[in-house]
Amino acid sequence: MNDLGASINALKPGTVTVVGMPSDENSSFMRGAALAPARIREALYSDATNLCAENGIDLGTETRWQDLGDLELGHGAAAFQQIETTVGRLLDRGVYVLALGGDHAITYPIVRAYGVKYDPLNILHLDAHPDLYDEYKGNRFSHACPLARIMEEKLVSRLVQVGIRTMNPHQRAQVERFGVEVIEMWQWDPRLTLEFEGPLYVSLDLDVLDPAFAPGISHREPGGLSTRELLGLLQGLQRPIVGADIVELNPERDPMGIATVAAAKILKEIVACMLVWNQSVT
Ligand code: MN
Ligand code: MN
Repeated sequence: MNDLGASINALKPGTVTVVGMPSDENSSFMRGAALAPARIREALYSDATNLCAENGIDLGTETRWQDLGDLELGHGAAAFQQIETTVGRLLDRGVYVLALGGDHAITYPIVRAYGVKYDPLNILHLDAHPDLYDEYKGNRFSHACPLARIMEEKLVSRLVQVGIRTMNPHQRAQVERFGVEVIEMWQWDPRLTLEFEGPLYVSLDLDVLDPAFAPGISHREPGGLSTRELLGLLQGLQRPIVGADIVELNPERDPMGIATVAAAKILKEIVACMLVWNQSVT
């Protein structure tokens, strides 16, 4: 993104902005997620499909969303600071952010900015993993830790996790410590409706999907949601979604592009949901 400042200043308040954050240096098992934003865009704009969401909004003609491209990220603490600062500037502009990861580590600096702007703020975290480790392999900013950092700093009033199927004793203790509400995958019911008070941030790790539906991820954990179940859950959210991220697509593990297409579809649906609800409250 060469002229980010000018791009941000030109945004109209209320715009849903897509921003790529190609970072995978905090991945614990394999790299590759940094390639995701570019691949998701290829799938999104491919002639294989169109830009209409299922609620009727056509992102091909809709002017209330904009793709800002990717952040040119440095490393370590500097990269986190860039993410937090950029998201903060976007929020000051009165726009909504949909971030494309990258691995799940990016959610912590994003939510640091959101916590300043929105109080109270709810997070709906969709993932096979709780990502609540106090530290993982010596890294407190690992993609296995972002929700622990967020809860420690009391950045949100409520964290609800759905799709979890790898809870271990340490993370169960963290759930108790932070008062996290968890709907583990074995408890999943497609009729589930989630109720939130106030603005909602959705953090979506693609491995919440069953690897049969999205094999192109680093940590394949069988027994997850179908794409249809995930879309139904998102489309049923009866709250304004003020921010979201889609993380953990690993194109290196996605030679057929199946998970990439799923990510592009989910992006389209989330943008369309954000436009409908945010329009209705402003
Ligand atoms: Mn995960
Ligand atoms: Mn995750």
